[in-house]
Amino acid sequence: MDSARDLIIIGSGPAGYTAAIYAARANLKPMLLEGMQPGGQLTITTEVENYPGYPDGIMGPEMMEQFKRQAERFGTDVRFETVTAVHLDARPFRLETDAGVHTAKALIVCTGASAKLLGLESETRLMGRGVSACATCDGAFFKNKEVLVVGGGDTCMEEANFLTRFASKVSVVHRREQFKASKIMLDRARKNPKIEWLLWKEVVEACDDGKGKLQSVKLRDTRNKEVTNVRADGLFIAIGHRPNSDLFQGKLDMDDVGYLKVHSGTYTSVEGVFAAGDITDHVYRQAVTAAGMGCMAAIDCERWLERTSHAG
Ligand code: NDP
Repeated sequence: MDSARDLIIIGSGPAGYTAAIYAARANLKPMLLEGMQPGGQLTITTEVENYPGYPDGIMGPEMMEQFKRQAERFGTDVRFETVTAVHLDARPFRLETDAGVHTAKALIVCTGASAKLLGLESETRLMGRGVSACATCDGAFFKNKEVLVVGGGDTCMEEANFLTRFASKVSVVHRREQFKASKIMLDRARKNPKIEWLLWKEVVEACDDGKGKLQSVKLRDTRNKEVTNVRADGLFIAIGHRPNSDLFQGKLDMDDVGYLKVHSGTYTSVEGVFAAGDITDHVYRQAVTAAGMGCMAAIDCERWLERTSHAG
């Protein structure tokens, strides 16, 4: 076990790296633990066109590589380690990872969220090749194309509406006829003439016909089990997100679905533990908002450390 540092940042998406850039420049010598998917959700998108400062767009993985370089430039100790347990009941806080144990006076949690997927092999294989879990990220690549959106909640309605700005036709695929979506979001989608409804249907396969890019989607009727093939250029999975907060169950306050609760900026329910990005946010979920919150967490943390070291 190494000696306690001021700060460990858990997570390597835009929130984590931005927190690291600010904390490192404030001379807190942060360690950043990357987790199982270094770079986070942006590494499964293709081109990012809405992050300010990249007028020609940038590939998601390349952008995260640049975030990492910038964090390292100011001395962040970036480790490819995954946290397996956190101990917040004693100070310094103790983290167990797949490579050892680390301790720190403060933590910034940026473990993000993961889009729920259907769990099909073809879905994983064609991710970024017609299959997407993020309409905001990838919608603009489907100008005048025909796309399917799977889901029945507000995320699905929002994404379906958004996609009609680009696509010539958007079909919502839902496994039953009742919707979890709120009435207002559902009504808006129902009034949109570009949206069609494929109800009582579930996706069984995304097909590329050997072309390496989505061509059609096999749907099964959930009542009579009949399988049909629908031509499609895009398949958006919009069945919700899951916050990556399992490590903090019973340790930090969270809402019913597991998003960490923050107050006064980025303070969690435990003094000295801060949270930023999608782990606290199911509303905006953008790289730029996560990065902004990472900056806030580093500033909150720096001020907290300053206060508590003077007090101690
Ligand atoms: P929800 O859990 O509300 O809805 C998920 C939908 O996906 C359900 O209709 C569900 O079907 C379907 N689904 C889940 N798993 C599968 C599967 N394996 N195959 C097929 N369909 C599946 O998640 P959302 O992300 O839509 O919403 C989460 C929260 O965020 C909600 O509180 C929502 O109100 C909020 N939100 C608000 C927005 C806004 O106000 N602008 C925008 C987006 C989200 P079934 O119904 O059959 O279970």
